[in-house]
Amino acid sequence: MKKVSRKDMANMSTGEFVQAAKGPYRELLKYLIPYKGRFALGVLFGMLYGLTNGLLLLVIRYTTNRVLPDGNNSLLNGDTSSAIPITDIIWICAAIPAIMLIRGLFTYLNAYCMTWTSLRVLSDIRVKLFSRLMNQSLDFFGKRKSGDMIQTVFNQTRMAQMALTTVASDAVKQPFAILTSLAVLFYIDWKFTVLALFVFPLCILPVIAVGKKVRKAGGKEEEEAGMLMVVMQEAFAGFRVVKSHGREDYEIERFTSANDKMMGFIMRWRKALEAVGPAVEAVASIGIAAALVYVWKNDLSAGDFIALNGGFVMLYPPFKSLSRIHILLQKCLAATSKVFELMHQDLDIADAENAPPLKDVQGQITFENLSFHYKKGIPAVQGINFTIEPGKSYALVGPSGAGKTTLFSLLMRFYDPKEGRILIDGHDIKGVQQASLRDHIGIVNQDTFLFHDTIYNNILYGDPTATKEQVEEAARRAHAHDYILEQDKGYQTIIGDKGGSLSGGQQQRLSIARAILRDAPILLLDEAMSALDTESEQKIKEALDTLSKGKTTIAIAHRLSTILNADQIVVMENGQVQDQGSHAELLDRSPLYQKLYNLQFSAGI
Ligand code: ADP
Repeated sequence: MKKVSRKDMANMSTGEFVQAAKGPYRELLKYLIPYKGRFALGVLFGMLYGLTNGLLLLVIRYTTNRVLPDGNNSLLNGDTSSAIPITDIIWICAAIPAIMLIRGLFTYLNAYCMTWTSLRVLSDIRVKLFSRLMNQSLDFFGKRKSGDMIQTVFNQTRMAQMALTTVASDAVKQPFAILTSLAVLFYIDWKFTVLALFVFPLCILPVIAVGKKVRKAGGKEEEEAGMLMVVMQEAFAGFRVVKSHGREDYEIERFTSANDKMMGFIMRWRKALEAVGPAVEAVASIGIAAALVYVWKNDLSAGDFIALNGGFVMLYPPFKSLSRIHILLQKCLAATSKVFELMHQDLDIADAENAPPLKDVQGQITFENLSFHYKKGIPAVQGINFTIEPGKSYALVGPSGAGKTTLFSLLMRFYDPKEGRILIDGHDIKGVQQASLRDHIGIVNQDTFLFHDTIYNNILYGDPTATKEQVEEAARRAHAHDYILEQDKGYQTIIGDKGGSLSGGQQQRLSIARAILRDAPILLLDEAMSALDTESEQKIKEALDTLSKGKTTIAIAHRLSTILNADQIVVMENGQVQDQGSHAELLDRSPLYQKLYNLQFSAGI
């Protein structure tokens, strides 16, 4: 879908706008199909509302003429000859509230059906967008700001919904209201109506004049709202960094600046919008004065005067709504196209058609002539050729930037290789279902991510089908059970995404428990570089030993014990494998390994 920028839209003619709007709106309409019944009902109530508008005018004219036959209240001036019985007067007058009640009911039902439909559509779109994002690759997320995505999933879908409600409701209701009112006005006095129709557009002028202003400021407001989300998201997610660098004031300043700008834009369009009402009222009052002169000159009845004026007063809101539809559509087009644009981003990593699941994995991994780059011309790994035997433990060592993490990401198929392939038990991982591939790989990362949920559910994340006993057993084996029981509510203690009151080592053991529960035949360990206290270190080591028993394990090694216990050590540098062997062999023949060993590992002896 072609992307339409706000600037493009501001300069568009109506024809171009309709052309540009077709795509996103046609797509929006597709979401309406499942709810077409309720939508059609809404349209029907809108039409009925329109009809009651004309009817109301007729009733007002009739009752006024009956009650005030000569513009004088015959009951008040003592002339009882033409007087209508009081009960009849009450009945006649009751027609006005009755018709207002019916009109109100139709308005309500129209709004109810349209809001119901558009909220359903909104939530369908939101869920679809979120699901689509969840299926995107890491690369996709790496290139985008999460604040911006939150803004699109939350706010911009809401804008799209507003467009749908208002447009769907007004596009039928208001033209009907205008048509029936006009028909009645012509019926009462066509000359007055023709004359007034020349004056009437004057009332609409202020609305058109502010339209452009509203549009421009509205678009900018949204941009700033996106910025506000980004600032908040970054400040909250990176709170530790903010604190440790003493940059609270800087973040507050960033927030204040985005907030002020947004307020400025809102104020700009609100100012314009709020001026419309009084301006229109001033013009309308001149119209009423002129109408009085016309009525006096043409000797019309009071009922005619009230109905004619009432008719034009009633014409104003529908005209205003209709003239705003264009503004609203433009404001919402940007939002809608952004929603669909994000939704239609290709999935970089998709399952091949009819890809079978990976089953009964033994754990042999072969890297075959593997090359990958994030940015063209800067290889992250290249020409990787080695095989990992099932059930053995491997340690990856190498300076920072050597390509160790990239190798993990490729194995998890977070990215596809640019050249070569990775085989698990002889199956190219590109040819199997991604979910089944990841089901067979457990990962323990340097930084543990915990969800804002109970400790129990955080462990259960490893295998949602596990029983309570299995969760507790996993925690026991990860040396986490005891400290979990010490928490306020044991396993049911809620921990925040930053781990709450748990220490770094305790959080890590939770993620090990998660991996134990997952019980995948292949295990990837990204060891923490930062030193933990000796007790934690020892506990984690024991937990990891339990976890990796009988599994094919690859560890990005930062601990001496890992390299000493590994069956094989793979030495990497500049995205390539420099050497491979046991600790003793490498210490003997690889200068790079000797250097790394002296720098990173020997301190731990
Ligand atoms: P290691 O884990 O050995 O420290 P990495 O696999 O993280 O190394 O990085 C290998 C190379 O790829 C480095 O040159 C690094 O700058 C680059 N790199 C890693 N991740 C990204 C990314 N998301 N985007 C661009 N370049 C990256």
